[in-house]
Amino acid sequence: MPESQWPKDTAYSAMVILSFICNASCAYCFQRQPAISQIGPRLNSRPMTNDIMDQVFKFVDYRRQGSVVNLVMLGGEALIFPDHCLRLLRGMPALSNARLTTNGVLLVPSLAERLVEAGLKSALITFDGSQPNHDATRYLAGNRGTYDTIVKNLSAVETTALRTNIRIHVTPHNYASIPDLLNDLSTNLNPSLHTVFFALVHDTGVGWQSGLDPNTLPAEEAIIELYRLSAALGFGVPTRTRVPCPMCQAGGSVIGPTGHLYPCEEMAGFEDRRVGDVWNGYDEAISNIRWGRCFTSRIDPDPD
Ligand code: SF4
Repeated sequence: MPESQWPKDTAYSAMVILSFICNASCAYCFQRQPAISQIGPRLNSRPMTNDIMDQVFKFVDYRRQGSVVNLVMLGGEALIFPDHCLRLLRGMPALSNARLTTNGVLLVPSLAERLVEAGLKSALITFDGSQPNHDATRYLAGNRGTYDTIVKNLSAVETTALRTNIRIHVTPHNYASIPDLLNDLSTNLNPSLHTVFFALVHDTGVGWQSGLDPNTLPAEEAIIELYRLSAALGFGVPTRTRVPCPMCQAGGSVIGPTGHLYPCEEMAGFEDRRVGDVWNGYDEAISNIRWGRCFTSRIDPDPD
């Protein structure tokens, strides 16, 4: 957000993308070039260097204006670079809250413990429906599914102080399988240690069959039913309120691995969406042209 529109808030939100490298290759990933393409190559970049990260610390320290910092750390898959994650957490000025978006494949207890010790509070892990649905969209090289590994890791990190938020993508294609997913998770996990929430996913060219229009009453009722089932199985279910996105609407910053600034995570990595960098700050003239909101309204808590 341009500095002239900079609001005074109690916490400053910084989203830091450590690299676009990922061990998965989800069809709907928005980090593709060109955007909105399921076959284009994923964005690529070297992981953030120490020099850039040091400048990120200076930039955040200036922008926060005495406020505490809420950090969101993500990739690509950030845990491919555990030392970068630890350095970012340890060096972030006035760190108050830190959360990690991860696909969960590398989230083992020994690493979770080190991350918590460095300041991480929670991790967001996504499922795309029951095992066959999930493994059909969230897979590693060679089409190896990730479901079993993620469930095993989620169960193992229950021994640590890391809180986990499970985001379940809802599409017309996977909707019918979600009760099976919830039942399986409740069998393999201690539900009281995990919070579940649902996110409608738009078809970005993947070609899902139609049938669950997000603007219709049946879609609302379907999601309410899923929340009821989650709560009945013992999962934490957040009470959610619509809030301005802390990044693109409330003065926070989205910082890419090269130190460039973007209005929103969905625009990160695209040269034509850059609005400044951590050395020179926001370019107000370019920001006025390029600033944009995230595609969907943000709902709190929505830890992505
Ligand atoms: S795990 Fe996330 S970053 Fe990696 S390909 Fe899937 S959606 Fe993209």
